[in-house]
Amino acid sequence: MKEASFYKKLGKKKVQCFLCPRHCTIMEGKTGFCGVRKNVDGVLKSLVYGKPCAVNIDPIEKKPLYHFKPGTVCLSLGTVGCNLDCSFCQNWDISHPKTIFGENLPPERVIEFCKQHNLPGIAYTYNEPTIWIEFALDTMKLAKKEGLYNVWVSNGYTNPEPVKNVSKYLDAINVDLKGDVKFYKRLCGIPNEEPVKKSLLIYKKAGVHIEVTNLLIPGFNDKPEQTERLVLWVAENLGKGTPFHFSRFFPHFRMRDTPITPMETLKKAEDIAKKHGMKHVHLGNV
Ligand code: SF4
Repeated sequence: MKEASFYKKLGKKKVQCFLCPRHCTIMEGKTGFCGVRKNVDGVLKSLVYGKPCAVNIDPIEKKPLYHFKPGTVCLSLGTVGCNLDCSFCQNWDISHPKTIFGENLPPERVIEFCKQHNLPGIAYTYNEPTIWIEFALDTMKLAKKEGLYNVWVSNGYTNPEPVKNVSKYLDAINVDLKGDVKFYKRLCGIPNEEPVKKSLLIYKKAGVHIEVTNLLIPGFNDKPEQTERLVLWVAENLGKGTPFHFSRFFPHFRMRDTPITPMETLKKAEDIAKKHGMKHVHLGNV
């Protein structure tokens, strides 16, 4: 188990994690909300360092990233755990597991695998890479030395300092901008979306290529005025050239009774984004 970064000791037994805005205070023998950062004798440890549970070779468009290295395939890694609690999670089998599981694949072997198979880059994806930042960063540093690209698929719920660290080695990111305050509170278990927007601004300032995804869920974030507010924020803060992906919802996890997003909703969202000058609008899961 690797010692975690971004935490401080609170006396002899307690620790507090500052990796994401949850700022979990963790007692000895316990893990934080994400389930993969454990207090072992007063030291915060990562339980998933070098232990991805999902390892695949994917086209980069699957992330989705449509405007960064199109046509390439990359090694895609994800571990168990998540720092959000989304009722519609599409990877719920790995985001909130009862046990930690995964393969033994330390950073050096990840790089070796890429070289052996002539893969140009690595995607840190499937679950939230923030919560396995130690494994991700060590891999990203080695990847850069070998001329490989690094891309993240993230919920953006990360504190500013770790975002700045990651940005140094990150080429591109797709961030889920899921909805408004009410949506994040009701369906994701966090008070608001401000930290996500803050992360996006830091990535932007650092020159990371950004694409944004909005999963449209019927009855929760699919009203035209909700779409319009998100589009306007992206246009004004990240620029009209930012690729915007509207994604179709399929029933999952705790939302199996919610219907599939109608095509008309997706087309309407596309029209709204184009009306406000967004240059690259894509529909996903269609
Ligand atoms: S990364 Fe995990 S342990 Fe750390 S604050 Fe976030 S949820 Fe808590």
